[in-house]
Amino acid sequence: MLELEEAQRRILEAVRFLPAESVLLSAADGRVLAEKIISQIDLPGFDNSAVDGYAVQAIDLISANRATPVSLRLTGKIPAGKSFSGKIEPGQCVRIFTGSPLPGGADAVAMQEDTQPDSKNADQILFLDSVKSWENIRFRGEDVKDGSTLAEVGTRLGVGHLSLLGAVGVESVRVARQPIIGLLATGSELREAGQQIGPSEIFESNRVGLATLAQRVGAVPKIFPLIPDTLAATKAGLEKAFAECDAVVTTGGVSVGELDFVKAAFENLGGKLGFWKVSIKPGKPFVFGQLGEKPLFGLPGNPVSALVTFILLVAPALAQMQGAKTFSWPNYPGVLTEPLENRGDRRHFMRVSVDEKGRVSSAGTQASHILSSFAKANGLVEVPPHTALALGASVSVLGLD
Ligand code: AMP
Ligand code: MG
Repeated sequence: MLELEEAQRRILEAVRFLPAESVLLSAADGRVLAEKIISQIDLPGFDNSAVDGYAVQAIDLISANRATPVSLRLTGKIPAGKSFSGKIEPGQCVRIFTGSPLPGGADAVAMQEDTQPDSKNADQILFLDSVKSWENIRFRGEDVKDGSTLAEVGTRLGVGHLSLLGAVGVESVRVARQPIIGLLATGSELREAGQQIGPSEIFESNRVGLATLAQRVGAVPKIFPLIPDTLAATKAGLEKAFAECDAVVTTGGVSVGELDFVKAAFENLGGKLGFWKVSIKPGKPFVFGQLGEKPLFGLPGNPVSALVTFILLVAPALAQMQGAKTFSWPNYPGVLTEPLENRGDRRHFMRVSVDEKGRVSSAGTQASHILSSFAKANGLVEVPPHTALALGASVSVLGLD
């Protein structure tokens, strides 16, 4: 049985990046850059005003205050988007707005709030305060320099990078393709929502949870029909999913029962099994294999085992397929408000609730078929084998929200 890290390492070693594609910036949230982005321009592109007011020569206003305002002659106006061909001479000012280019000769902008029109002379403005040299001016290139690197290959794009790229005029970016991930549920007892269930049948619930998790890590889930427990049906289901997807996830049918057909069907199709069984709880009977370059993730059928193995073993692989250099779920420090005990000999990833103060409590019964505690949980805490973490212990919470 493999340790978790060894299983993760073997999966990441086997999984390949997908080829890149071009997408518009507006559609690139969450995507991973397959190219380095270098700015082709300075940002700001020109020296400009940070306020609405008057461009001046600061030296003219040294003595200005409310009691003894300084009067300067108004020689022009520069709305945002326009430029000014003239030059400010001593004793002059030019009306200017936030973002308007600074006129030649000016070395400061006085805020409108520190001025008033001269009632005696329409061509003159009264300045009620002094201004420092270069005050209220935004300089060319102070945000971004032409030729500088804005984002490296492997960057996961979010609101900050997208806004920055927009500001330097990037229209579209090369990003790794999102993996299409086929979701198959095996089990003759399974029925679709909306169907009648017989006395020994259950509603299938793994695919919807896994589809949600897949989307959170940027993959595109594709849900396939239910697969009854026969070798032929399992083989046909896998064959179709591998033909249509970049990776395939199955649930159920990977234990030791004689009706567990996933491994046999996969090998029958020419798939190569990598490993089976990881030393974690929930989720021991996990299978990894490859059909050509495409990975198979065979998850256990128990709903919580399927979700937890997806979180720990499948999500990092899906991130890597998209070109991400590293992947981790959010991690929060927390303190236990009750003991958490693991009497078993596998590392137990327990469902917990963590509040905004970092207080961590068990989310309820930890058995692998209990979904109500998963629903109550917003994180997982790892408890080592044969260990009781005491009340007050510091823990690290893998965040699920
Ligand atoms: P298996 O791994 O196939 O032995 O299934 C283990 C347990 O999980 C059994 O109780 C199954 O009925 C249940 N189970 C398997 N697949 C699903 C599923 N897709 N949705 C809900 N329960 C499932
Ligand atoms: Mg089964």
